[in-house]
Amino acid sequence: MKRLFIQSVFVVGLLLSSMATASNFPTKEPMGGEPFGHSVKNIGDGLYVFRWWVYRNIFMVTDEGVIVTDPMNPKAANLLLSEIRKITDKPVKYVVYSHNHHDHISGGMVFKDQGATFIAHKNVLKELGDHPSPATPLPDITFEDEYTLQLGGRTLELKYFGPNHGESLVVMRLPKEKILFIVDIVTPRRVAFRSMPDFWPDEWVRSLKEIEQADFDYVISGHGPTNQPAIDPGTIVAEQRIYLEDLMDAVKAEMDSGTHSPDKLRQIVKLPKYKDWQYYDEWLPMNIERIWAYYHMGW
Ligand SMILES: [Zn+2]
Repeated sequence: MKRLFIQSVFVVGLLLSSMATASNFPTKEPMGGEPFGHSVKNIGDGLYVFRWWVYRNIFMVTDEGVIVTDPMNPKAANLLLSEIRKITDKPVKYVVYSHNHHDHISGGMVFKDQGATFIAHKNVLKELGDHPSPATPLPDITFEDEYTLQLGGRTLELKYFGPNHGESLVVMRLPKEKILFIVDIVTPRRVAFRSMPDFWPDEWVRSLKEIEQADFDYVISGHGPTNQPAIDPGTIVAEQRIYLEDLMDAVKAEMDSGTHSPDKLRQIVKLPKYKDWQYYDEWLPMNIERIWAYYHMGW
């Protein structure tokens, strides 16, 4: 009887631990570290979030090597490599670029020198051709709509949702863990970035609606300061989309009622629902002016 009890406890324990891995990612734990430094968060099962200042990427440690995303810049990439070396001596086999912007994808030379293969959407090749940087290796593998990367029994799916922020942004998905890694187009509990550089408001909303249809429970965002969690519930994608819709509706309504000056719109339009989001006071007026330009000028 006692033995049966012990076996039962063991089975229940196994069940609980398997449930824990499916639903127990550290969504409440702040990323941590010094604001202008870097930090690493172990999400579990070989998946890590690396932060440098307010930039983040993910890396995956597998039995056959390491998959790295967005190397950011030469300084961050060297710090990233030193952090990876604390965890494993396996080689970095792949570097995946989220999109073409230099602030996210510079610095990969340190991995190129060690023989890593670089992967990106095909439009990154064109953008880097037009705006080359010696700190940014060109992708070796490019794709049009989707690409599935497999290494050491792990899978990372890459998917292009069309233009939204530039024309090369891919959303990364870990199908087993149901985690998305999304750069720039989803940043939780923060208004849109300043004057929304290279963001196309209507295509952004469309893309988020399509992303919401994917199979995922969690999101890791490409931006976030030390006090924000490394990983969030999947609901932050819809929250981002609803913020943009609220912003666009509010600016449109004020323009329809006769306010055409962007300076006046910046003063009049308020979105109190979002007053606790980061940079509400500082960046909301810039968001408003960007949406004014969209309705006024048609882009
Ligand atoms: Zn960007």
